[in-house]
Amino acid sequence: MNISENVIKIIQELPPGVRLLAATKSRTVEEILEAINAGVDLIGENYVQEALQKYEKIGNKVEWHFIGHLQKNKVKKALQIFDVIETVDNVELAKEIDKRAKNMEKIAFVMIEINSAREPQKAGVMPEYALDLADEIYSLEHLRLMGVMTMGPVVDEPEEIRPYFRNTKEIFDELRYIYGDEQIKYLSMGMTNTWRVAVEEGTNIVRIGTGIFGPRKY
Ligand SMILES: *Cc1c(COP(=O)(O)O)cnc(C)c1O
Repeated sequence: MNISENVIKIIQELPPGVRLLAATKSRTVEEILEAINAGVDLIGENYVQEALQKYEKIGNKVEWHFIGHLQKNKVKKALQIFDVIETVDNVELAKEIDKRAKNMEKIAFVMIEINSAREPQKAGVMPEYALDLADEIYSLEHLRLMGVMTMGPVVDEPEEIRPYFRNTKEIFDELRYIYGDEQIKYLSMGMTNTWRVAVEEGTNIVRIGTGIFGPRKY
């Protein structure tokens, strides 16, 4: 199986309204372009510096989402590339993004990352604080909240991740109720081994790396 075939197969299997995000960390520009030629229009990168190098060659013919851990000192550069930052999980980071966006005279589109399995060492806001963080983000003039994302725990069986996806979907629905579905558009969950479960639980972005490009280095 090659990259094009993998992309075409996944896109065929996705229900209408569910977007494929190609998770492209550690992949070359050539590999990414092959995926784009096969129909990928949304890519996700974890590291700002790595993304900058690729962005120079690929440009904005696709949508770029940031899906890694964002350090405050990388916010300015991140805003030059990324259409959406999916991983805001604390107020300090939200405020820094707001400040930088203001300086750049733009609006930053962000999502809240939820630590859906409440794992101590993992990124993401604890589920019970997600609405508070949304409230803070809403009060910042240069931020627009677009939805929520979660990683969920590493599992042996895809089925084991279902409760965490379900919980994240509930938070997504609450945010839609509060802020409206014009504003809250995206629910991003599901990776190579778990995206089918995520689709059943109502996601509308699946983030797939290995399933497109093969085993990854990091
Ligand atoms: C790497 C990565 C993915 C894709 O993982 P695969 O198992 O390779 O499909 C999805 N989301 C995030 C945040 C990632 O870092």
